[in-house]
Amino acid sequence: MFKGKTALVTGSTSGIGLGIAHALAAEGANLVINGFGSPAVIQQVELDLQARGVRTLYHAADMSQPAAIEQMLNAASSVFGGIDILVNNAGIQHVAPIELFPVDRWDAIIAINLSSAFHTTRLALPAMKRKNWGRIINIASVHGLVASADKSAYVAAKHGVIGLTKAVALETAQSNVTCNAICPGWVLTPLVQQQVDARAEREKTDLQTAKTALLAEKQPSLQFVTPEQLGALAVFLCTPAADQVRGAAWNVDGGWYAQ
Ligand code: NAD
Repeated sequence: MFKGKTALVTGSTSGIGLGIAHALAAEGANLVINGFGSPAVIQQVELDLQARGVRTLYHAADMSQPAAIEQMLNAASSVFGGIDILVNNAGIQHVAPIELFPVDRWDAIIAINLSSAFHTTRLALPAMKRKNWGRIINIASVHGLVASADKSAYVAAKHGVIGLTKAVALETAQSNVTCNAICPGWVLTPLVQQQVDARAEREKTDLQTAKTALLAEKQPSLQFVTPEQLGALAVFLCTPAADQVRGAAWNVDGGWYAQ
């Protein structure tokens, strides 16, 4: 479906980004991969994607650094002639009450979870407009729609991502470029595993009990969302059926936001 197109998925060495990269590669898109990991892990990610018959380019840009983001977009342009599908996914979490929230964690979360999407979007959009086709998919969170205690930076950044999504959707409304946000609930990735581990330690329980407690608190389905489900939604947002889906904040959250 996307043969000849190129997708950049930030933070695609793990978790949701990796799931979305696979879903897009399965439809024929070449992939620009980004994120941290050992050389062996990154090589395996590339090999697994190439096994789907697509080309890949890995770029190690630290998404907190605007100059590195620009280098990555330039590399993508010279290898693939620009980005057609931009998935802003890289993100980190830190959990602490606001009075104790480390200032450097606040700055890092705003830079990686929010400002990076501004930089990739401003840099990728000119080529999309020239081709008069593009898809920008921002991986926000249900925390872009509602808050939880002790996640001030994350909630602020994710609400910001949804605002950015709406503004870009309006600026591109009369073109074939669309911009939308996906808002997952709990997905069992390394980012959430850390929170499960912390909970098990705090409550002196085993990991399974901690997982169940985490879900029961917020996610009525009591089941984790999967990277594959999010990949399938990202693919849908790139199809003609989604041409008029613009500025949406689409929650995939087992009912979290319905409460
Ligand atoms: P993850 O930790 O599995 O993956 C995060 C990815 O981002 C990794 O590839 C990591 O290397 C990369 N990354 C982190 N900092 C980076 C930096 N400075 N520069 C470049 N890459 C960087 O986490 P995940 O759960 O897959 O999260 C992916 C996105 O989904 C994040 O934006 C997160 O906020 C969002 N999200 C996750 C959940 C969840 O329950 N897991 C729910 C809602 C939203």
